Amino acid sequence: MKDLRLIDIQYLAGVGPSRAAVLSKELNINTLHDLLYYFPYKHIDRSRLYYISEIDGNMPYIQLKGRILSYETVGTGRKMRLVGHFSDGTGLIDLVWFQYGAYIQKRYKLNTDYIVFGKPTVFNGRINLAHPDIESAEDLTLSEMGLRPYYNTTERMKRMNLTSSAMQKLVTTLFASLKEPIPETLPAYFIEQNHLISLDKALHDIHFPKNPEQLRQAEFRLKFEELFYIQLNILRYAHARQLRSKGLRFPIVGQLFHDFYAQKLPFPLTNAQKRVIREMRDDMNSGRQMNRLLQGDVGSGKTLVAMLTMLIAISNGYQACIMAPTEILAEQHFATISSMLEGLPVNVALLTGSIKGKKREPILSGLRDGNVNLLIATHAVLEDTVSFHALGLVVVDEQHRFGVAQRAKLWSKNDFLPHVLVMTATPIPRTLAMTLYGDLDVSVIDELPPGRRPVVTEHRYDKEKASLYQFIRTQINEGRQAYIVYPLIKESEKMDLKNLEEGYKIITEVFPEFNISMVHGQMKPADKEREMQRFVAGETQIMVATTVIEVGVNVPNASVMIIENAERFGLSQLHQLRGRVGRGASQSYCILVTSFKLTDESRKRIEIMTRTNDGFEIAEADMKLRGPGDLEGTQQSGIAFDLHIANLARDGQLLQHVRQLAEKILNDDPDESRPENAILWQQLRLLKKENVNWSAIS
Ligand code: ADP
Ligand code: MG
Repeated sequence: MKDLRLIDIQYLAGVGPSRAAVLSKELNINTLHDLLYYFPYKHIDRSRLYYISEIDGNMPYIQLKGRILSYETVGTGRKMRLVGHFSDGTGLIDLVWFQYGAYIQKRYKLNTDYIVFGKPTVFNGRINLAHPDIESAEDLTLSEMGLRPYYNTTERMKRMNLTSSAMQKLVTTLFASLKEPIPETLPAYFIEQNHLISLDKALHDIHFPKNPEQLRQAEFRLKFEELFYIQLNILRYAHARQLRSKGLRFPIVGQLFHDFYAQKLPFPLTNAQKRVIREMRDDMNSGRQMNRLLQGDVGSGKTLVAMLTMLIAISNGYQACIMAPTEILAEQHFATISSMLEGLPVNVALLTGSIKGKKREPILSGLRDGNVNLLIATHAVLEDTVSFHALGLVVVDEQHRFGVAQRAKLWSKNDFLPHVLVMTATPIPRTLAMTLYGDLDVSVIDELPPGRRPVVTEHRYDKEKASLYQFIRTQINEGRQAYIVYPLIKESEKMDLKNLEEGYKIITEVFPEFNISMVHGQMKPADKEREMQRFVAGETQIMVATTVIEVGVNVPNASVMIIENAERFGLSQLHQLRGRVGRGASQSYCILVTSFKLTDESRKRIEIMTRTNDGFEIAEADMKLRGPGDLEGTQQSGIAFDLHIANLARDGQLLQHVRQLAEKILNDDPDESRPENAILWQQLRLLKKENVNWSAIS
């Protein structure tokens, strides 16, 4: 059979050049293969007819068979509509059109049998079907209809008469034109072992199932395949890298680590911190390159873990670098790490975009000749002028702000691969971690340092500001500090800045007795830094800010986090912001302030936030609410989630299962030589060529 990927969609009967252009532009459908893989977004059971006498106005979609007895135009101006009085002998309902009246009257004749389909509503005591689907009863036999597919279409498509039912016809035509079954994409033994249906049947049934069970089997086969190939790709890549990349061997833990541990450690490590450090120590002495993802909730103490790991690298004669997503955060890491290491023979340096000229030169040369042991940096480290003497360990803090390509760039600064530790800002769901970072080993800090009191989180409406201000005042008078955060979706949005500045004005008027800082993304880094430092030092009591303070900032004395317009924030952002308080010994509070009007989704977000402090639980909920494609991080990391049919929020178990199968195949057939598996490697190559984003996952 000719490869459907090679047949231009315009040659399908009913398409032609101008419709083909629209299909290409609107849905990226260019070939017969693309059309075949344009799956319906829902199916509706159209195998059953209702009688008008049964309808109660509360029903989902229904289908009736009868005749239009007469037409009538009702109302004037924008309310004008065409009503078709429709009867099936058991009763009377109104078919209603707000547009195209003349066309409708011409198209659907009186006293002719039609099947109409729509959702009944009650209006003025009569049952209405607005803009129903209508088909000639002669053309259709009910048994043929079964579950009917519905396809997403766009306005431009509709103008070319490419409606959902037109799409359905095109797919029908496509299937009718196929002379042979669609070739299989999985090995025969594999299909049998996993009780899958054939690809040919699955593709047919995903469009035209006869019943829900057929639909379910078709979906299962296609999801299975989709997730399986993603996992096969990631794991194959990880296997290859393990074979290829000899890692640096760090045989000793070293004096630095021991001295720090004995003399400087400010508090005992939690068991989770100890376990994670041990895992990394073993990795770095295994002879293979470490590629590890460190997950831990906000405040679980990832920085200290990273620092101890870096000390091991340094004792073994290498340099270490920690990369932070913002200057504020890099500067704060620099301050904490330098003060913790004071008195120990480690040369710590900071490199950010605002360190220029004369100040920058000695840092760059120190990195080149190895005089700098530990570098704390922002993106600035990726510039071509930066090179290392012997970079042995890279820590990427708050990973989601860095893309895969950026990570790769840092690796390439060396003749050999450094060990890599990636730390996430907030936990991410397991399934997402397995897909985004599927080639990384995962360590989890699942324990907070002792003595932390969970942050008390409450929801307040705008109107309750007065009591809120009173609460802030009480807390500050007890010696605490407060954050007040305004949304800033994009740093360039002027509106948001205005909100912030107005907010600042109000706060200064309400609290004349306190010193107030303001920080936002449009300030010069130096000004931002100065304001931050004033707050850190306790010179100011209130910090009015945008989400620039979201990631990582540590001021243990702050006990109040007020989030204005909390409905505009995503769950992981809210959780991150809340993580800025609750870092000291005193009870902390997070107040989510919203307007009265809330969408269902924002109400759910607020509800989850007030219910739990557990970042892992929040991450799962976030993915369920928004879908994996919208999670922060997936977009920023440059990986579009082009999953056709599988859903990481719902198909977690299946993902886990196919991952094991992929692992087994790679272990059983490591040199990819078994003939029965040839189809796998061939399909993988094809998929990678076809979908650039998809291959970027590895
Ligand atoms: P995150 O994991 O969010 O990056 P940090 O590394 O910023 O968290 O740590 C949060 C706070 O907890 C810091 O003030 C840090 O000094 C403190 N901390 C870290 N480990 C411990 C520990 N084992 N016991 C007590 N406090 C700790
Ligand atoms: Mg941190």
